[in-house]
Amino acid sequence: MNRQKSILAVGAHVGDMELTAGGLLSTCARLGWKVVLVTLTSSERSAPEGADLQQIKQTKAEEAAAFARVLGAESIVLNIPDGFLKASRKVAFLLRDLICRDAPEIVVTHYASPHKDHMACHTVVNQAVFYASLPNSGRGDMPHSVPELLYAENWEDNEDFKKELYIDTSEGYALWQKALQKEISVLQCPFLPIVEYYTIKSRLNGILAHTGHAECYARAASHRTVKRMAPAAREGAFQTAPALALRP
Ligand SMILES: [Zn+2]
Repeated sequence: MNRQKSILAVGAHVGDMELTAGGLLSTCARLGWKVVLVTLTSSERSAPEGADLQQIKQTKAEEAAAFARVLGAESIVLNIPDGFLKASRKVAFLLRDLICRDAPEIVVTHYASPHKDHMACHTVVNQAVFYASLPNSGRGDMPHSVPELLYAENWEDNEDFKKELYIDTSEGYALWQKALQKEISVLQCPFLPIVEYYTIKSRLNGILAHTGHAECYARAASHRTVKRMAPAAREGAFQTAPALALRP
């Protein structure tokens, strides 16, 4: 029997991966993949002044879990204070162990970012991918070299973002939209209409990728160099889902 394919998404805050990679996660879920969504901080700092931070933490974790339930996904929210995320060895090995547990085809996280927590998340996920690939770890599991390490397109991580891969997310679009309705604090984001922004972006990327809906990703440098890519992709043009073999 073939092993179930899987994808691991790691975001700094509740909402980060749900918004920026939600179409991909939903598409993978629709195709029968195991989907694991990890949020590294308790995500409480976006609350208004004077809010009950304990209550906000609980609400955020419940919303992440509710989003994941719609996809049939696993949700893990760590209790690291929002704004204080570090690329620690402890977090790197926690993620490393998840990678070795599920052997995901795809890991997705933040692009390098001026946002402190997003940058820490980017760094610690890269470290985890490295540690997961090392043989003889002494941790009682098998190493796993992640085939695709992708960085999501995020309005907060946009500086120098390299648009390298467009993935057709039409299959999961409706499921993604349904799951987003579970994240009330994201729907009511006080900074900007963030759900509308990513919904429109999904369609705009779809137009550019000649499909209904799509998400755009950058690839980790090591993956750019070791993988043979179509000439069009090397020239910065579009490479859509078949390159990632989302389907069996
Ligand atoms: Zn964030």
